[in-house]
Amino acid sequence: MSKRVVVLALGGNGIQPSNSKGSYEDQFKNIDITAQQIAHLIESRYKVVITHGNGPQVGTIMTQMAAASDSVPEQPMRICGAMTQGQIGYLLQTRLQYHLLKLRGAPVPVCTVVTQVVVDKDDPAFQNPTKPVGSFYSKEEADAVAKTNGYTMKEVAPEKPKPWRRVVCSPKPQDIVEIDSITQLLDNHVVVISCGGGGIPVVRKPDGECEGIDAVIDKDYTAALLAKKVDADYLMILTDVEKVAINYGKPEQKWLDKLTSDEAEKMHKSGEFPGGSMGPKVLAAVDFVRWGGEGAIITSLEKAREALAGKTGTHFTK
Ligand code: ADP
Ligand code: MG
Repeated sequence: MSKRVVVLALGGNGIQPSNSKGSYEDQFKNIDITAQQIAHLIESRYKVVITHGNGPQVGTIMTQMAAASDSVPEQPMRICGAMTQGQIGYLLQTRLQYHLLKLRGAPVPVCTVVTQVVVDKDDPAFQNPTKPVGSFYSKEEADAVAKTNGYTMKEVAPEKPKPWRRVVCSPKPQDIVEIDSITQLLDNHVVVISCGGGGIPVVRKPDGECEGIDAVIDKDYTAALLAKKVDADYLMILTDVEKVAINYGKPEQKWLDKLTSDEAEKMHKSGEFPGGSMGPKVLAAVDFVRWGGEGAIITSLEKAREALAGKTGTHFTK
């Protein structure tokens, strides 16, 4: 029997938790733990495509860019996104290669693909920038940044001394430019890392040229698109909670083991899953199983193996 294909979507916060400043040592340690988990999955019976978030990492790069902008030119977000694909891809590559070599006793090919993801230039999201990115600013600083760079600035955290941030649009992913390369690598038993940070957003011009834009594509939606495009059997969304809950954070909170797509959609409509965190994961899982995927699972990085064996996690079926 041919090996089953799993798309793994790793949370940016799992790689760099909110209590971490994001030192090299911290990121190395977290990615090493994740890579060890994934290496075991690959060695058991799965072909794996990995995608990952980049929120904390891209934020750091944008802050560094802004801080050094007097001496070196600031680069646009699409470049920062590409940098995080290289940064996180490299760390995953090197730790996966190490753990796979230990398990198999022979090198296993692992490869990161810098990936562009096409969005629709008429996506309604372009009317309303919602996604905060980069540093926090005071009102005066925010006005100055808006004037110099033409950025849209919003007061997003009134409780903070510097409550303003740049906001960008978050359009839906429509297509993956490098998908043929990704599938060919997968067919040739290469472990592929792609679509990091939801992909570098591009719009396709009438002559076919892909032009990079400054926006953020939700990595969970891109993960579902990627899973469909590679004809995956399973989509696993790995974050920092073991299961999805209803009444999350309330006394009557209840962890969920199984959900049909209709049940999940109903709970989403009643507001159980916030837009900035669990909402996109649940919608991505629903989208994938409705398309025909065998199953989608939401669980934590540490529980990936157990969840795929059916022992934990929240499992979505059509
Ligand atoms: P990632 O970086 O993996 O995308 P997010 O922070 O975006 O992580 O989403 C995961 C978070 O969603 C969890 O840490 C949890 O606090 C939050 N969350 C919100 N609603 C729920 C829910 N109903 N069940 C479980 N977790 C939830
Ligand atoms: Mg998230």
